[in-house]
Amino acid sequence: MSVRAGREFLAIPGPTNVPDEVLRAMHRPAVDIYAGPLLALTDGLLKDIARLFRTDGHSYIYIANGHGAWEASLTNVLSKGDRILVLESGRFAIGWGESARRMGVEVEILKGDMRRAVRPAEVEARLKADKANGGNTIKAILVAQIDTASGVVNDIEAIGQAIRAAGHEALLMVDAVASLGCVPFEMDKWGVDVAMSGSQKGMMTPPGLGFVVANDRAREVHRKAGLRTPYWDWTDREGSAHYQKYAGTPPEHLLFALRQALDMVFEEGLENVWRRHMLLAEAVRRAVGVWAEGQAIGFNIIEPNERSNSVTCVLMNGRDPETLRAYCNEKCGVVLGHGIGELTGKAFRIAHMGHVNAPMILGTLGVIETALGALEIPHARGGAQAAIDWLSAEVKP
Ligand SMILES: *Cc1c(COP(=O)(O)O)cnc(C)c1O
Repeated sequence: MSVRAGREFLAIPGPTNVPDEVLRAMHRPAVDIYAGPLLALTDGLLKDIARLFRTDGHSYIYIANGHGAWEASLTNVLSKGDRILVLESGRFAIGWGESARRMGVEVEILKGDMRRAVRPAEVEARLKADKANGGNTIKAILVAQIDTASGVVNDIEAIGQAIRAAGHEALLMVDAVASLGCVPFEMDKWGVDVAMSGSQKGMMTPPGLGFVVANDRAREVHRKAGLRTPYWDWTDREGSAHYQKYAGTPPEHLLFALRQALDMVFEEGLENVWRRHMLLAEAVRRAVGVWAEGQAIGFNIIEPNERSNSVTCVLMNGRDPETLRAYCNEKCGVVLGHGIGELTGKAFRIAHMGHVNAPMILGTLGVIETALGALEIPHARGGAQAAIDWLSAEVKP
C-alpha cells in the first residue's frame, strides 16, 4: 500500500521544481535570432542577472550547466601554470578546482572538511604567507557560497575581508550555483571578482543555462588569460552582434523560461525570496533538531550558524539512508537527495531552494517523520510540529 498518488515532490538539490508558469513560458514557437523581440530579451536578462548578483559588472549567459559555467569562469582569467587556492568545505569548490587542474592550473587546497565552513582567518594566514614568500603568486581563490554536498554556507563577505586584510591581489571567485536567489549575495559590496551560477537550482528554470558575472578587475586580468577558448571567451561575447552573446544560436526557450522565473523573483521581491528561504530552511532545521534527539540522525554541519538556507544534509548514524529515501519516494511521492562524496550511503539531503512553499516543506517533513516511524528509526517525535510552531510564530497575519 502506498499514499503516493498526485504530483511527485522533488526535494533534491537540483534540478528543482519548475513552476508551471515557467514551463508554460517555453511552450511557444521559435523566433528569429537576428532581429525582433529576442534581442531585447537578451539585454534584459543580462541586466537582471547582474542585478541578482548585485553587481555593476558584466554578465554572460552560457548554454551550459554549472560545470560549464565553472569552465567559463576559469578559462577567462587563468593561464596554464597559474596557481590558485581552493577553499574546501564540501565537494563543489574541490570539483571546480579539479577542472582547473585538468586545464594545467596548479591547484592548492586550503584544507577544510565536510562538516564546517571555511575559516576566513585561515584564508588570511595562507595569503599572508604567500605574500611573504615573494609576492602574489596565488592568482585566484575559489570558494562555493553554499556547498550542496555538505549543506554548509560560507561567509563570502568575511572571506573577501580576509583577502583584503592580507593585502593580496588574487581574484575572489565564487560558486553561487546553490545560493543565487536563495540567500543574499552582494558581489560588489563583498569584493567578489567573478561569480557563477546556473538556471536549475534557486532560479527554478530547467537545467541548461550557466551564468557568469565579472567585475572590471577580472576583465582586466582576462585580457592576458592564456586559457581563453572561442566558446567561453568574454571578449567575443561582448561583441555587439546578438549571436556573439551566445557564441551561436541562443537557447531561446530556456531564455523565455528564465525571463518568467526572474519576473516571479522580482515580483515577490529578492529580499522576500531570501526571507522565504530562511523561514522554510529554519522550519526544516527545527524538525531535524527534534528528530536528532533520538541519536540515530543528526546535522552534518556542526555549527548551527553554518547551516545553509537552501539545503540541509542529514547524517544517519549507522542506518541506511537509502531505505529512508526509498520509503519516502515509493510510499509517499517525495524524492529526497542522497549523500554524495564521502557522505555517500551515510546521509540524505533535503533541498529547500527555489520554488518552495510551506505545504511543500511541511509535507516533506511530515513524510520524513512518517518514514522514521514506519522504519522504526529512533527519533524524538514532534519534528514536523516544531516546524509548524516555528512558522506560526514567524509568519504572522
Ligand atoms: C549543482 C552544483 C554545481 C554543479 O552544477 P551542474 O549543473 O550539475 O554542473 C556546482 N556547484 C554547486 C554549489 C552546486 O550545487
